[in-house]
Amino acid sequence: MIECRICGKEFPNMASLAGHIRGHNQSSFQQILIEALNKQNELLEKILVELEEIHSLLERLNVVETRIEETVTSKAIMPSSERHQAKEEEASHQAKISKEEPSLPSFLRDNPWIKILGKHVLEGDKK
Ligand SMILES: [Zn+2]
Repeated sequence: MIECRICGKEFPNMASLAGHIRGHNQSSFQQILIEALNKQNELLEKILVELEEIHSLLERLNVVETRIEETVTSKAIMPSSERHQAKEEEASHQAKISKEEPSLPSFLRDNPWIKILGKHVLEGDKK
C-alpha cells in the first residue's frame, strides 16, 4: 500500500496513487496545509501553557530550596551542647557497628552484600 502524502489515503499501486494526486487541486492542497499549520499552532499554545506551569513550579521549588538552606544554616549555629550530644550519638552508633562485626575489615563493614551473605550462611547452618 502507498500512502498519499497530501491526504493520507492508501492506494495499492503507483498508478492509482498518481491518478488520485492529479485529483488534488491546488486550493485543497493549501487547505490541508492551513489545517496542519493550525494544528501545530494549537500544539505550540499547549506547550507554552505547560512551560508557564513548569516555570511557576520551578519558582516554588526555588523558594523551598531557599527555606532548606535557611534551615541548614540555622542548624549549623545551634547551641554547642546540642551539637556535642549529636556527635556522641553518632560515635556510639559507630561503636555498635564495629562490635557487631569485629573481624571484618573496615571496607566490608558497610557492604550490604556481606550482611546478606552472612544471613545466608547462618540459615544454612540451622538446616
Ligand atoms: Zn490524497
